[in-house]
Amino acid sequence: MRASSLAEDLRQVVGKANVLDSGVNLALYGYDAYLEERRPDAVAFVHSTDEVVGVVKVCNKWGAPFVARGGGTNLSGGTIPVKGGVVIEMIRMNKLLEVDVANLRARVQPGMFNLEFGSALAPLGYQYLPDPASQKAATLGGNVAENSGGPHCFKYGVTTNHVLGMTVVLPDGEVARLGGKAPDTPGYDLTGVFVGSEGTFGICTEIVAKIVRVPEGVKTLLAIYDSIEEGSETVSAIVAAGMVPATLEMMDQLVIEAVEASIKCGFPLDCATVLIIELDGLKDDLEQQAQAITDICKKHGAREVRVARNDAERAALWAGRRGAFGAVARITPSYLVCDGTVPRTALPVVLRKVAEVSKKYDLKIPNVFHAGDGNLHPLILFDWRDAEQKARVMKAGMEILELCVQVGGTISGEHGIGIEKMDAMRLCFTEEDIEAQVKVKRAFDPKDLSNPGKIFPVAQEVAHAG
Ligand SMILES: Cc1cc2nc3c(=O)[nH]c(=O)nc-3n(C[C@H](O)[C@H](O)[C@H](O)COP(=O)(O)OP(=O)(O)OC[C@H]3O[C@@H](n4cnc5c(N)ncnc54)[C@H](O)[C@@H]3O)c2cc1C
Repeated sequence: MRASSLAEDLRQVVGKANVLDSGVNLALYGYDAYLEERRPDAVAFVHSTDEVVGVVKVCNKWGAPFVARGGGTNLSGGTIPVKGGVVIEMIRMNKLLEVDVANLRARVQPGMFNLEFGSALAPLGYQYLPDPASQKAATLGGNVAENSGGPHCFKYGVTTNHVLGMTVVLPDGEVARLGGKAPDTPGYDLTGVFVGSEGTFGICTEIVAKIVRVPEGVKTLLAIYDSIEEGSETVSAIVAAGMVPATLEMMDQLVIEAVEASIKCGFPLDCATVLIIELDGLKDDLEQQAQAITDICKKHGAREVRVARNDAERAALWAGRRGAFGAVARITPSYLVCDGTVPRTALPVVLRKVAEVSKKYDLKIPNVFHAGDGNLHPLILFDWRDAEQKARVMKAGMEILELCVQVGGTISGEHGIGIEKMDAMRLCFTEEDIEAQVKVKRAFDPKDLSNPGKIFPVAQEVAHAG
């Protein structure tokens, strides 16, 4: 491919100022929040569905792969252009198009940040529920592609439960409208198929999202434990008692230390673990629920349960939780985030085994995660400059994913497969299962242009699948 000519054609579509093809610029678009790098041939900034169509058609003309990029915060290498080609930067398609309060829907462009969307809805008394901890920098398009979760997804479900329709540009440049404002549409649920497809079925250019009223009241509790087992047993006990808090998040001692060194949110430094439990709903009911949860926590070994007394105290707890990955990044040159999911009753045993993996590979592994969903995030700390250490990290990560599968869980809760977990797909799927999924990819993308080389260990064979 003659990159300069490809870039020239892209300039015809999006304008001269909206195409990058020089070395340093391409280097900036060659990585995301995972650990690998690969430069694209060009980067195109798009502003409309029509421009996306134009860019995708140019890619088809040149046989160039393309990959949509939002905030680049994904942790599985989803935006790395492993086969070169064009990065389609969506960040400037960031408008809130409509808030339809009567129907509890909003139409929004995919480049808008998740938090920006929430901030636009809040003054109207509404909210969009999926809230990845990265919400300041992650776009709604990225959330859709990864089927993102977040603390509030324990009670309310992940992105797929909140996206009802989409406009998409298919890999050949055709525009398709999937779903819509209605709660259900006849025929196949293609919106559901597209959500979580990691950019491999084309580019989403508009989202129809479900919005809900902001709850009347919120109460946030911090339960403090001297053992991880007791903390994780409490998670199942709360659910078994028939209670569904809005969030049930867990952070262990190493993470608390990093957070306190970074943000100072008032977490105790001398405990083994904390649970952040948030209740929402009618104000009248919250006091009673908080007491019931406090009793369960104490019965399962909490040495103390604090209730945030005002918005500032609540905000401090969430600043600590949402800032946890960033805080850990201050104490290590790099880390691998594992994203396994287990039945929540298996949390005590799996956390114990994660500690054994940490010892076995001589690597520090702090934990901060969505405990209510059983969605673990062991963070394996290491120095990327040390190849031997990196190899150990990869082995440790795979061993943790194997553990998750052994106890009836799976290899991803919310971060996607990307390039990170292509091999781990074989822990969950047979070759036939994988081949069947590759055929779905081929139905959308026979030329294998839309984010190729991702998800499947056989991705390079997509074009030849029978
Ligand atoms: C500190 C930190 C905390 C995090 N916390 C969470 C969390 O709590 N929950 C969670 O689920 N994830 C979390 N993540 C992971 C990440 O933020 C999410 O996966 C997020 O949804 C990615 O959004 P993005 O805009 O950065 O997407 P990108 O990283 O830019 O892209 C992700 C994938 O989406 C595709 N894509 C992007 N835009 C489009 C589009 N318009 N059409 C089609 N495909 C597209 C890309 O090709 C890529 O495959 C966290 C990451 C970090 C760094």
